[in-house]
Amino acid sequence: MLLYLRCLCFRNKVNAMSTCLECGDRIVGRSDKKFCNDACRNAYNNNQNKDASNLMRNINNKLRKNFRILSGFDFVDGKAKTTKQRLSNNGFDFNYFTNFKVYKNGSEYRFVYDIGYKLLDDDWILIVRNE
Ligand SMILES: [Zn+2]
Repeated sequence: MLLYLRCLCFRNKVNAMSTCLECGDRIVGRSDKKFCNDACRNAYNNNQNKDASNLMRNINNKLRKNFRILSGFDFVDGKAKTTKQRLSNNGFDFNYFTNFKVYKNGSEYRFVYDIGYKLLDDDWILIVRNE
């Protein structure tokens, strides 16, 4: 009996909150409808896609910038050394990399495409590039 009451209560709640996801108007008709019409559905979906595109564009820009900064170093035998501070000063964002690799010797490398870096002692950083 209690379960039955709870179900009723839940259903009432859903009905009460039946408003269009796009414009917020009350939806008349079936309680599982999410939009009042096709125009609202399209507008909503377009905005969702735009948000996803914006997010991806921002992340891609960060990755591109990180890659540009790393590739700007003078590599000798595929290696370059710098400091964390210098990378930060150049606008490098340590939160963004494309892959993370741990080698058998325990070394951890973060890669931005084909350029990787490893944190060394005293804020030094070793940058490696497959050439
Ligand atoms: Zn609407």
